[in-house]
Amino acid sequence: MTEPYRVVVVEDDPDVAFYIKTILTKQGCIVQTFTDPSFAQQAMRLYEPDVVITDIEMPGITGIQVIELVREVRPGTPVVVMTAHVSVDYAVEALRANANEFLTKPISSSELIAVVGRLAEEFRAAKANIPDPEVVLAIGAHPDDVEIGVGGILLSHRAAGDEVHILTLSRGGRSGHVSERQAEAFMAAELLGARLHLEDLPETEIGENEPTLGIIERLVSDIRPTVVYVHSEHDMHQDHRAVNKAALLATRAVRSVSCYQSASATVDFRPNRFVNIDGWLEQKVQLVQAHRSQVAVSRYHSAEFLEATARYWARFGEGATCEPLEIVRDSGDLSTASGETARGQRDVSARQLSQ
Ligand SMILES: [Zn+2]
Repeated sequence: MTEPYRVVVVEDDPDVAFYIKTILTKQGCIVQTFTDPSFAQQAMRLYEPDVVITDIEMPGITGIQVIELVREVRPGTPVVVMTAHVSVDYAVEALRANANEFLTKPISSSELIAVVGRLAEEFRAAKANIPDPEVVLAIGAHPDDVEIGVGGILLSHRAAGDEVHILTLSRGGRSGHVSERQAEAFMAAELLGARLHLEDLPETEIGENEPTLGIIERLVSDIRPTVVYVHSEHDMHQDHRAVNKAALLATRAVRSVSCYQSASATVDFRPNRFVNIDGWLEQKVQLVQAHRSQVAVSRYHSAEFLEATARYWARFGEGATCEPLEIVRDSGDLSTASGETARGQRDVSARQLSQ
């Protein structure tokens, strides 16, 4: 037999709970029973069950609510709902709440065994097909650089369940009030669902050595990114070039590293990957325009400019809108060197990439 199935039973009637536990334990399952449904979420975290079995009606809580609690902790977990009565209302309600199965008491042991076995097997197979989430780090010299360069790509990472971090090395004191730009940076990160690491290096004086290098190295060792986006070396702004140099050094062990197009990129910016961002452009514009103080003073923040740029790059890629990247490295082997599991080469962005 494979690893034993883990089953959590939420049932206020101890006799029924014991009956289910006895049957499933005989089959080799590991069964935890809870007569108090308020432990449901804790049980999910502790036991990571393959299947949850719950009564439809318990004091203070319904099976439907249990389904919600369970899925909040571990989305996709199969739930079997039991009821004492053959009731169409209950069945309809349970199905609407996406119960996977519906068993009527008295529970037949053969049916119980069959249902649990099937759902656990399906759940494990589905889990095996989901790739591990990526840890994405997007690095920019100033607030809004990252949103302009890879806003659409970051949105699609979030949609795929990846963890997204933004490292911004300065707070943009020259082109706006620091506190205002800081607030805008956090607003954009929140819209994106990303964690913002905001540093305070002097704008226009960012260097490629210390402290820039150390800041990036520390964050990399802290969050262990699998994917990194950073400014290109083909850029007019010296801060951008310095951040590019420092980041390439600090992320030398990261599996996938690529450079995005900043507002000040030069014509030498030469992308070799064009990531389709169809469906994300509108939200990208919102991310960029969250930097409200810049909208009035920079044409790069206008919806038209962002859209035109994305449409232009689509001529080399697929779909109607793309973000361009210069690939520095994209290999499956490097992450093993740092002690992590090799994930193999994997596409980003739902994930239509073309070279
Ligand atoms: Zn910048």
